[in-house]
Amino acid sequence: MDKIVSLARRRGFIFPSSEIYGGLNSCWDYGPLGVELKRNVKEAWWRYMVRDRDDVVGLDASIIMHPRVWEASGHVAGFSDPMVDCKNCKMRWRPTDLAEPKCPACGGELTESRQFNLMFKTFMGPVEEAANIVYLRPETAQGIFVNFENVLNTTRKKLPFGIAQIGKSFRNEITTGNFIFRSREFEQMELEYFVKPGADDACLEEWTQYRLNWYKNLGMNPENLRLRAHRSDELAHYAKGCYDVEYNFPMGWSELEGIANRRDFDLTQHSKYSGKALEYFDEETKEHFIPYVIEPSAGVERSTLAFLIDAYAEEPDKDEIRTVLHLHPALAPYKIAVLPLSKKEILSDYARKIYADLRKCWMVAYDDSQSIGRRYRRQDEIGTPYCVTVDFQSLEDGMVTIRDRDSMDQIRVKVSELSCILAAKLSGEPFNS
Ligand code: ATP
Repeated sequence: MDKIVSLARRRGFIFPSSEIYGGLNSCWDYGPLGVELKRNVKEAWWRYMVRDRDDVVGLDASIIMHPRVWEASGHVAGFSDPMVDCKNCKMRWRPTDLAEPKCPACGGELTESRQFNLMFKTFMGPVEEAANIVYLRPETAQGIFVNFENVLNTTRKKLPFGIAQIGKSFRNEITTGNFIFRSREFEQMELEYFVKPGADDACLEEWTQYRLNWYKNLGMNPENLRLRAHRSDELAHYAKGCYDVEYNFPMGWSELEGIANRRDFDLTQHSKYSGKALEYFDEETKEHFIPYVIEPSAGVERSTLAFLIDAYAEEPDKDEIRTVLHLHPALAPYKIAVLPLSKKEILSDYARKIYADLRKCWMVAYDDSQSIGRRYRRQDEIGTPYCVTVDFQSLEDGMVTIRDRDSMDQIRVKVSELSCILAAKLSGEPFNS
């Protein structure tokens, strides 16, 4: 993990938040490369979960919602973790994280365990009074449930269908840590997939496999992924069944994503609290009923961290060791780097034309400083799949070299065919001249 944290900091993926003020515990800022990586993770999820399917539509709900939402969902009463305080240094801990009944920081005596609500509270409007309390959402899911009827009426979708959303969530976690694994502000990628009661068990199994395949399709090593079914005594109050997709993080196997059968719990609660019947009318059987829902819920930062860890390698390169991120091309911040062998104007003019051309389709880097070997290393370290090297010979024969990040193989291609060849390589399709 230390190597990932250091690479992420050094190359501009992830910085501690408000660093010039000493940082803010468990808050992170995504730098020029991190923001691209994170956007690519979200884009890959959206494509796989929404655009590639005709049974899922998207949504972008407000972060601050009516406070009654969180009463109906059970978050006001029950979204809490048990917590103990150290009587000496005042540090707070989750009892489940402690090996011994004393403070891990100072060895001090601990208080009795009490429940601590994880929702961030604030006030809406100019007056700070109880009537104006609102919450920052602790999950994106409720924004979907309260819009169930709106989406149903405007899209005329038939069961089974899903509503997907990506957005920020906030939890005042008692203990954070392991870099971006658990923070207080994070993004979730959630799908609520509505089905007829009775079809829910099979649907949970289907979504579990579909989600596992998403990570594998994006190049994650299957040996670092596993599914874990929740025991009945660890199921959330709303859930009938649940799987965790776990990743073999440096600190051990930990949850990457949860896939739960939430039954009709949320729609039933919102029907009760809002007075609106959130039902579905089945035109074939002429029945009104509340659908069941299967929820795959993934974290953007956790996936990003897992993709980074999984991609990281230190490999022999001639007499040295190179650091390389074997990121899937869909996730890599830069897809291509254009590297002119010299800074001479005649060569850089030519290379810049190629750069401008490739940028129309992809995120492309341009680097003309230091030796070509060092430039390849720099691109390997940030996961750029292909480098295009432009040399003086290129000016004469109109050909450039493509260098492959993973195999380090080099091929010479015509500039006129460069875009098509790179498109084929980046998509994994064969190229026919
Ligand atoms: P954990 O037990 O690890 O805190 P959880 O079971 O509370 O997670 P869920 O409520 O199932 O998490 O949320 C779904 C997903 O959202 C998680 O699998 C994770 O990827 C992400 N997530 C939840 N809490 C956090 C957090 N504090 N920081 C980063 N990601 C989070």
